[in-house]
Amino acid sequence: MNYNHILIRYNELALKGKNRKDFERKLLENIKFALQNFSGVKVNRSFGRMFVELNGADESAVSERLQDVFGIHSFSPALKVELNQEKIDAAALWAMKDALPNEDGTFKVTVKRPNKNYPIGSQQLNYDIGSHILRNTKDITVNVHHPDVEVKVEIREEAAYITCKNVKGPGGLPIRTAGKVLLMLSGGIDSPVAGYLALKRGVLLEAIHFHSPPFTNERARQKVEDLARVLTRYGGSMKLHVVPFTDAQKEIHKQIPDSYEMTIMRRMMLRIAEAAAKKYEALAIVNGESLGQVASQTLDSMHTINEVTSIPILRPLITTDKLDVIEVAKKIGTYDLSILPFEDCCTIFLPPNSKTKPNLEKAKLYEKELDIDHLVKDAVDRIESIKITPKTIIEEEFNNLF
Ligand code: ATP
Ligand code: MG
Repeated sequence: MNYNHILIRYNELALKGKNRKDFERKLLENIKFALQNFSGVKVNRSFGRMFVELNGADESAVSERLQDVFGIHSFSPALKVELNQEKIDAAALWAMKDALPNEDGTFKVTVKRPNKNYPIGSQQLNYDIGSHILRNTKDITVNVHHPDVEVKVEIREEAAYITCKNVKGPGGLPIRTAGKVLLMLSGGIDSPVAGYLALKRGVLLEAIHFHSPPFTNERARQKVEDLARVLTRYGGSMKLHVVPFTDAQKEIHKQIPDSYEMTIMRRMMLRIAEAAAKKYEALAIVNGESLGQVASQTLDSMHTINEVTSIPILRPLITTDKLDVIEVAKKIGTYDLSILPFEDCCTIFLPPNSKTKPNLEKAKLYEKELDIDHLVKDAVDRIESIKITPKTIIEEEFNNLF
């Protein structure tokens, strides 16, 4: 015997009216997309839940993939069997043993019988299935209040469904149900995690990367493409906008006193990111800043840097400790890439004595030496946009889906 279905639950409490329809439609589409490489697998929606029909696909591999689909609250591997008492008993016993492989612990059976034509009532079914399990296991006992395992049996029109395990999903909202955001993606540890967390709230993600050839090399850029590709696992295909930042950086280096170089460079990046967000119709910028982590992320710095823009800036990591960020980076598969040692544009030229409390008026004064409008427009005009797709997926399939 083996699981032939996976029952997926989502948290519909937070949803009303039209939102709920969009949410369900998108979630179904996203699950289908995530499972497209499993041949034979089908996904259907019914009565506020979704069912994956495995048709021979490996249940644990499919379950692992479901962990990447935001909007899934929890799921359970399930056995669908004919409406035949012996088959239902056998399936319940098998699922029970799968949930408690050492055959010791406690359980209870919960039967739901929406199909009133089934000749045996719920109470009797509870008793019969429970007895069958007790007769065929060693040290398992019944505990109706706090069982280790709840054997759920649902008698429907077409079949019976049996589940025992409840696996926590990734939660969040289905991707592409919220608006578009632009992620400032560096090659570091933080920004990919920030992108992942933004995706968790259902956004459509595009990324912008500042590149300063020849000071930052092709491999640094390749690393960013690779990081973006990891994010496609959670967000589907994604655009990466690469900004040529060398000219602006050189100009800043030439004109601005050392101690304000970092502050002015960040202000410039943010202006360019905002102009790019307008160009690509993104409603917010996302970055990987965490309060107090480095000189550019003190509250004073943020205040002075943020002043150039009025577009919302989302900072999913703002209160997160570095060690916790690293843990998420490892979990989502970006950490090993992030620690590869390539220079980021933010670290070149920069003197060690960056201000941790840059003064806004001074920053504005120093900036008078720069032709800001020109530098911003020129950088945005020369952005190179590329489409990042998961390697295993064929381009046309992507275009059809999104
Ligand atoms: P990360 O690990 O994400 O690089 P960090 O702690 O190293 O973060 P900084 O290098 O100061 O911090 O960058 C802060 C944020 O600015 C990053 O999280 C990212 O969102 C953005 N950023 C930095 N460098 C770049 C870049 N070259 N291109 C795009 N965004 C960048
Ligand atoms: Mg960095």
